[in-house]
Amino acid sequence: MITELITVGTEILLGNIVNTNAQFLAQKCALIGYSVFYQSTVGDNEERLADQLKTALRRSDVVILSGGLGPTEDDLTKETAAKVCKKKLIEDENTKKRIKNYFARTKRKPSDNNWKQALVPEGAIVVDNDNGTAPGIIMEIDGKTIILLPGPPNELIPMVNSKIVPYLKNKMPNTILSAMVKICGIGESKAESMIRDLIDQQTNPTIATYAKTGEVHIRVTASASNEKDAKKKIKPIVEELRKRFGDAIYTVKEEETLEHVVVRKLQKQGLTICTAESCTGGMLSSRLINVPGASDILKIGLVTYSNRAKRKFIDVNRDTLKKYGAVSKETAKEMAKGAVFKTDADVSLAVTGIAGPDGGTKEKPVGTVFIGCYYNESVVVEEFHFTGDRNKIRELTVVNALDLLRRRMLENHEEKNND
Ligand code: ATP
Ligand code: MG
Repeated sequence: MITELITVGTEILLGNIVNTNAQFLAQKCALIGYSVFYQSTVGDNEERLADQLKTALRRSDVVILSGGLGPTEDDLTKETAAKVCKKKLIEDENTKKRIKNYFARTKRKPSDNNWKQALVPEGAIVVDNDNGTAPGIIMEIDGKTIILLPGPPNELIPMVNSKIVPYLKNKMPNTILSAMVKICGIGESKAESMIRDLIDQQTNPTIATYAKTGEVHIRVTASASNEKDAKKKIKPIVEELRKRFGDAIYTVKEEETLEHVVVRKLQKQGLTICTAESCTGGMLSSRLINVPGASDILKIGLVTYSNRAKRKFIDVNRDTLKKYGAVSKETAKEMAKGAVFKTDADVSLAVTGIAGPDGGTKEKPVGTVFIGCYYNESVVVEEFHFTGDRNKIRELTVVNALDLLRRRMLENHEEKNND
């Protein structure tokens, strides 16, 4: 089904806001097998929007618009869509009631132009907005589908998840199902070369690789007449990927992140962790705290950026710092050990490195990072040489620190195969 996205709003055109709706909608469409061939952004201008919508209707089966459903003068998406489709706007009783209740609930008074939001194109399907006043609107006209969605992401996202996706899935003659295999510690080109033959043979399921910071994600997507058959098609491919990538796979669940996996494993093993961070300055503990329930396992997150802090809070030896430097295997080792002993945590991750742009030397260029991990009464330190700007190096450090701990926990526990 050829699908097209039109995001409406002068703010997007001027770069005042980031077009996150387009990203969200495109990803959702891909997940359920709707092929997005075109995306465009139009300002709050009736003529240009009408032109764009007409173009979209000529070349696409489904056109999804976001933004411009609000109550003000410059919100004109619905009016324009109705005009292009030659439909009158009529009042929707149910929406009127919903707007009344919405204002009563939020203890505010509707202004006159709020009632404009109760008008819908004749014959349209009205999609209730649980987080705002403007309803979503679906118009089915001459075999084409137009979907109008409110602009604010806190309204659009739940509406799409709970109402638009089920509508679109239902419309699709085939069931599209996909699995996501997430890998850490193998670069994209290597990962791709390891499955070149599978990619070359692919038809159904399709296999696509996506490079993320420090990770590679592989999406396997199957199309079948029902969910059971689609699952059957996906299963052997995922099994083959497991064979090839082994423990580098940290999850096969779409929604699961690396930090989720690490936190879950720590919880399962009943362990607490302490982080001691230098160049990442708290990013590592912040990633752990992304996971609800992290308070069970994160004992403390220390940012020991200066040499003095490394000595004072986690007992790094003055001589070690002097002899080997703050960015060294020896310092990382003492940081990891000191963190555990000072905080009584069971496990630690310690990072020290040169994120740049300055501070590099010939022996230790920018991107040199040491990650120490105390686990099961021993410390392992790994040395990395990352490339990229300051932020990229810090992000890569965090991913590799989490992965180092994940791998150590695998070694020692009978929960291989990423449960
Ligand atoms: P409102 O009732 O708030 O006017 P609306 O449906 O008319 O909603 P817009 O006026 O186009 O939507 O946008 C309202 C706000 O929603 C914007 O200021 C912006 O914060 C957010 N928004 C709109 N479009 C996008 C988009 N494509 N990506 C991310 N945010 C968006
Ligand atoms: Mg608006």
